[in-house]
Amino acid sequence: MGNFTFKKKFGQNFLSDKNLLNEIVAKAGVTSDDVVVEIGAGKGALTEAISAAAKKVYSFEVDKELIDYLTEKFDGTNVEFVFKDVMDISDKELHEIVGGKFKLVANLPYYITSPILTRFLQNEYLESATVMVQEEVADRIIAGPRTKDYGVLTVMCQLLGETKKVLRVNRKMFYPVPNVDSAVVKIEKYKHKEEIDYNKLIAFVKKSFTMRRKKLSANLETARFSKQAIEEVLVDNGYLATTRAEELSINDFKRLYWLFLDIIG
Ligand code: SAM
Repeated sequence: MGNFTFKKKFGQNFLSDKNLLNEIVAKAGVTSDDVVVEIGAGKGALTEAISAAAKKVYSFEVDKELIDYLTEKFDGTNVEFVFKDVMDISDKELHEIVGGKFKLVANLPYYITSPILTRFLQNEYLESATVMVQEEVADRIIAGPRTKDYGVLTVMCQLLGETKKVLRVNRKMFYPVPNVDSAVVKIEKYKHKEEIDYNKLIAFVKKSFTMRRKKLSANLETARFSKQAIEEVLVDNGYLATTRAEELSINDFKRLYWLFLDIIG
């Protein structure tokens, strides 16, 4: 393992500080009853801390160079590795592997933070996600309306759970040292499931934010629904005709989803 080559394309920035690793697991609230999914084992530093607290760990790693090292290091433990690109694994396969409810704990590969969150937060078996992300992304996840950070990622995460920034992590804690600082965010999934098609709702949110500075009516306009028609619906329901996406709360988005279901299609 001495001559391991770090691969930028896989977002490989590894951690080693035991106090920090244990703190991440503590913030995740992992107990001996929990099954944990980790994305990106790396050299297994976080895996080890999770393993000490959890009942079982399923850890996904795309870099085949790590197979021998990890398999040997964790031989006979409660950790099972899946050496595949996690995005190539269907929800059905994931469920066959994990078998039920799970917590996600990971120092995420930054190049696929959003796709991973979009996918995992919608997984019906996920209880919570405690993930290391770039601090700028953490700020977007926890943002409130009418701020520059509030956008599609914010709404997508906050529709599905309660978000919190639980730790700030200096870039010097990683090897190789990245260009930006990081933070750990915890997203506690809401237990009740609403009768909403989240894929449709997220598509609607994306459309609403197409051009941030523009009015919602301009972003939502289609051949069938004119700006005027959309503004009429907004005004009839107590919103200003000039409303912009960044002014809408999470509840507003849920409300507008039903009002604009025809447009969403
Ligand atoms: N958990 C380790 C740590 O904290 O030191 C490594 C974290 S590093 C930021 C991200 C890890 O995710 C790397 O080991 C990388 O190879 C792995 N990875 C990147 N893309 C992946 C993917 N699509 N599926 C599974 N693992 C991936």
